Amino acid sequence: MDFAWTEAQQRRWDEIVAFAQNALDHAIRERDASETFLPENWQKIAQQGILGLHVPVEYGGQGLDLLSAVHGAEALGYGCPDNGLTLAVNSQMWAVQETILAFGSPAQKQRYLPGLVAGTLIGADAVTEPDAGSDAFSLQTRATPTEGGYLLNGHKHFITMAPLADLFIVYATRDPQIGRWGVSAFLVERNTPGLRTSAHRPKMGVRTVPMGDVWFEDALVPAENRLGPEGAGAGVFTESMNWERSFIFASHVGSMARQLEQTIAYACERQQFKQPIGKFQSVANRLVEMKLRLESARFYLYKAAWLKEQGQSAALEAAMAKLIISEHFLESSLDAIRVFGGRGYLTETEIERDLRDAVGGRHLWRHVRYPAPGYCANAGPLSDALPHPTCPRTQRRTPPRKRRDALSGAQPQLCGAL
Ligand SMILES: Cc1cc2nc3c(=O)[nH]c(=O)nc-3n(C[C@H](O)[C@H](O)[C@H](O)COP(=O)(O)OP(=O)(O)OC[C@H]3O[C@@H](n4cnc5c(N)ncnc54)[C@H](O)[C@@H]3O)c2cc1C
Repeated sequence: MDFAWTEAQQRRWDEIVAFAQNALDHAIRERDASETFLPENWQKIAQQGILGLHVPVEYGGQGLDLLSAVHGAEALGYGCPDNGLTLAVNSQMWAVQETILAFGSPAQKQRYLPGLVAGTLIGADAVTEPDAGSDAFSLQTRATPTEGGYLLNGHKHFITMAPLADLFIVYATRDPQIGRWGVSAFLVERNTPGLRTSAHRPKMGVRTVPMGDVWFEDALVPAENRLGPEGAGAGVFTESMNWERSFIFASHVGSMARQLEQTIAYACERQQFKQPIGKFQSVANRLVEMKLRLESARFYLYKAAWLKEQGQSAALEAAMAKLIISEHFLESSLDAIRVFGGRGYLTETEIERDLRDAVGGRHLWRHVRYPAPGYCANAGPLSDALPHPTCPRTQRRTPPRKRRDALSGAQPQLCGAL
C-alpha cells in the first residue's frame, strides 16, 4: 500500500479546500437552527466536479482512481464544516452513483449518472422501513410484477434527501416470506404516480439536510428501471452497502482534521493559571488522542480505497472503516467540547454541532453477518445473489431454499460488532 500523495492529488486537495472555504455559504449556525437545506451549495459542489470524482468521464465525471476521489471527498469535509451537506453528498456519491455504475444497464447509466454528477438530479437510497432497520432483508415493501413492469406498495422511512430527491434506489420484495431471495432493486423517479414523500422530519444532528419518508401506492415502475436481475436485490444491496460503509464518512475524516486544528489552536491560545491550557498534561493527552483517532480513521479509509482499487471486495475493511470513523468522530467531538470548556457547549462557537452530527453517523448502521451467507473470497458479498464472472463457486448456484438450509446456523455471528 502506498498512501504518498502525488502532486496532482495534493493540488486537488488545495483546490477543493479553497473552493469549500471560499465559495460555499457558511451560515450553517442559522441553517442548523432552522433545519434548512441550501440547494445553492449542492449546485456549487456539483459544478466543482466533486460529485463526479469517481464517475467515468463518459458520464460527466472526473474518472479518478478511488484513492484520489476519496482524498477529494476528505478535502471537502476539511473545507466545509457543514457535516449534513457533506454526508448527503457522500451518500449520493457512494450509495447511489456507485450502485448504478455497478449494476445499471448502459441505458440506465446514460439516463441518470450525468444528471446526478451535474447536480440537476438528486439521488436517494431508500432501504429502511418502519419494521426493517438493522434487519434490512425483513423489508415489507412489495414489488408485484405487472404488465410492463412492477407495482410498488410500501413505506420507507429515515431516507436522507427524501423530501427533495429526484431519483430513489428502492429495494422491494416479491414476497416477504422468502426474505433476501425475494428482493429486487429499482430506480424510481420522483414523478412516478403513486410515489409520495413526507416533509422533512426534524432530527438531532446533520440538520442541514432533509430526511423523510417515501410511500408507494401502486406506483408503476417500468421493467427497464429494475436495477440488476430480478431477485438479485440482496446482492445489489450488499455491494451498495459495501461502498457506503467504505466511504460515506470520507468527508467526516476531513472534519476531524479541521476539528483537531481548531482545538489545538484554542488550547494554545486559552490561558488559565498563567499558561496555555495545552500545557496541562490532561489537555495535551486529549489532543494526542484526537490525533491518533484522526490518523487511524484515515488509515482505514485509505486502506478500503486501496483494496477496492485493486479489485478486492474489502467487505471487512469497509465495515471496519465505517465503525472506526464514526466512533472516532464521536469521541473526538466530545474531546473538542471538553478542551473548549464552557465555550464548547455554546451553540455560537459552533463546536458542539460536530457532536450532534457525529451521533447521526454512529446510528446510520445496519447489522450484518460477516461473512454473509454465500460469501465468496473472489466475489465478496456480491455472490449472495449474483453469480460472479470469475468465481466458479458462485456460478454453481444451488436453489435458494436449499442454500439457506444448508448454511443456517453455520455462520460466524459477529452481528452487532460490525
Ligand atoms: C442520519 C441518518 C441518515 C440515514 N439515512 C438513511 C438513508 O438515506 N436511507 C436509508 O434507507 N436509511 C437511512 N437511515 C436509517 C438507518 O440505516 C437505520 O436507522 C439503521 O439501519 C438502524 O435501523 P433502526 O433505526 O430501525 O434501528 P433498529 O434496527 O430498530 O435498532 C435499534 C437498536 O437495536 C440494536 N440492534 C438491532 N439489531 C441488532 C443485532 N442483531 N445485534 C445487536 N444489536 C442490534 C441497534 O444497534 C440499535 O441500537 C439513516 C439513519 C440516520 C440516523
